[in-house]
Amino acid sequence: MSPGELSSVQLEELHQLLLVECRDLECQLQRSEEGAKPVQLGTPIGRLSRMDAIQQQEMTRAGRLTLETKLRQVRSSLDAYGRGVYGVCRFCEEPIGYHRLKARPEAPFCLACQDRRET
Ligand SMILES: [Zn+2]
Repeated sequence: MSPGELSSVQLEELHQLLLVECRDLECQLQRSEEGAKPVQLGTPIGRLSRMDAIQQQEMTRAGRLTLETKLRQVRSSLDAYGRGVYGVCRFCEEPIGYHRLKARPEAPFCLACQDRRET
């Protein structure tokens, strides 16, 4: 095993983290669904509270987008796990490393590639 590659114990630990994360995100998305419904313009709630409601809704929507993106990454990591390629950077195909995955089990890229993509 080369340095950076995951032992089977580490792999299973990260797999469990992903499963928990997946359920958690699905749950959060379900809960926020109610808040993301369009504001009823006909509802007599007054101008200020309507603006509040719209603002609240924008925040909920932005939050949902973040959750959805993360859920996609978690699912795709679970898929990679199923294919036996989990923990490998999708760009350079080097091992992502246990410590990075422990902090972000859904990370699709190694730190170097992530940095390169963000700059
Ligand atoms: Zn990489």
